[in-house]
Amino acid sequence: MSTSPSHSFHHAPMDHCPFMPVFGPPPIMFDRGVGTELWDSDGKRYLDFLTGLAVVSVGHSNPTVAEAIADQAEQLMHVSNFFANPVATEAAVKINGLLRDATGHAGQVFFTNSGAESNECALKLARKHGGRGRHTVVSALASFHGRTLATLAATGQPTKHEPFQPMPEGFRHVPYGDIDEMRSAVDGSVAAVIIEAIQGEGGVHPAGVEHLRAVRELCDDVGALLILDEVQTGFGRTGRWFGFEHADIAPDVVTMAKAMGNGMPVGACWARADVAAAFEPGDHGSTYSGTAIACAAVNATIDEMQRIDAPRRATEQGARLVRALEGVAGVTGVRGSGLMLGVELADGLDAKRAYLDLLDAGLVVNAIDPTTIRLLPPLTVSDDEIDEAVEMIADALADQREDLAS
Ligand code: PLP
Repeated sequence: MSTSPSHSFHHAPMDHCPFMPVFGPPPIMFDRGVGTELWDSDGKRYLDFLTGLAVVSVGHSNPTVAEAIADQAEQLMHVSNFFANPVATEAAVKINGLLRDATGHAGQVFFTNSGAESNECALKLARKHGGRGRHTVVSALASFHGRTLATLAATGQPTKHEPFQPMPEGFRHVPYGDIDEMRSAVDGSVAAVIIEAIQGEGGVHPAGVEHLRAVRELCDDVGALLILDEVQTGFGRTGRWFGFEHADIAPDVVTMAKAMGNGMPVGACWARADVAAAFEPGDHGSTYSGTAIACAAVNATIDEMQRIDAPRRATEQGARLVRALEGVAGVTGVRGSGLMLGVELADGLDAKRAYLDLLDAGLVVNAIDPTTIRLLPPLTVSDDEIDEAVEMIADALADQREDLAS
């Protein structure tokens, strides 16, 4: 029996959609990508200024990453955590190195398969570290931390909670960037504050360096952990290896995923060594934690990011993109940092229509709210690709402005 409308997916007619109905009907089937470019199943070319939501940071089909995955697949894909593998050890050392440089502290990692699982690990670690009676986690309204029940409870979007009530107990939300509200919420029952340096799914809104510093101070005052959710902002995207580095603070726990495998589903939760020590054998786990095939992608991705100096590229190409966008009629401002940008549209212009018109023109972006387009191009994006994308944005907005005027 068919339970949903028929889907054609271009060349594959089906009378029963094979996917659960949690995503809208996909407008396009992509079957190939190289660098910033994508091709759909009809052979039409697109520039990808979304990168699968801040994932493909060193470009589609990156040869270094592709070769590392292929070689590892022939050598050893997986053995479980009953045994060690050299690839996971190398990846853990690399991530500890990046975070030691960023925080000044030695730490330890737990590998995961997604951003939500990285945050789930951080939330469990915070509860174990806080102990009984100190398990509450404070997060920001409009934040996004994942779709598992605990990370959904930490996510400050009540409408997303509603269908799944009751939510797990022990989560409080405060307006993003409001240190007074945060002070009222963070008392002796609070195990941790979890925050994004820039809210990504919430609309590309930066917390601001002063706010991040004040939250760090508040956590120190009450003895709560500070967890930075770097799932979207991490690995060079904002112009530093991690978004919190702009504020010169040292979080106790950092979560990551997305760009760290350039498309391989992999994430990690890092904690300062004395915090990680709250976990004991049996407290947490995952069949695929540190699996060799995923860690081969992590090692190659980090090597590639270091080779091209990904944070510097994000700063330079981000500045070029912002400069160009600020000259486009219909753009009233650009939020964000590096190559994580929200383009604000003038009154009357519609981000959803811009998204659809841009797809038609051959540019992949995302309408993050009714008046903002989100841009997350690869950190390898070239000057010419930036110019080409901005021209498409200018043309799409010009069409809308003409329609408004007529
Ligand atoms: N945290 C942040 C800041 C995110 O942006 C996301 C996803 O967009 C997540 C967590 C969840 O990551 P995943 O979808 O890999 O579970």
